[in-house]
Amino acid sequence: MVKLTNKEHEKGEVDKIKIQTEFINEHNRIMKKLDEQFIHGVTYEYVTARDEKVCQMCLPLDGNMTKSSDVDFAIPPLHANCRCRLIVMI
Ligand SMILES: [Zn+2]
Repeated sequence: MVKLTNKEHEKGEVDKIKIQTEFINEHNRIMKKLDEQFIHGVTYEYVTARDEKVCQMCLPLDGNMTKSSDVDFAIPPLHANCRCRLIVMI
């Protein structure tokens, strides 16, 4: 096992956060594309990671429902290291 210095370890954390945020971005981009092309007008639910690390910005949004046509709806990630996602309610 490779031992990391503090700086390398910090960089690993930053990379992990970037990858996680990009994954959520991509997930939500695909969800929006699906909505536009196939399942227009569906309802989304905002879902947090539902653990003790959920931040105060995201916590009140958990379980919120919206139609895709609602332009004011919060689309995650709302911040770096946000683990929230939208799911389609069928
Ligand atoms: Zn979040």
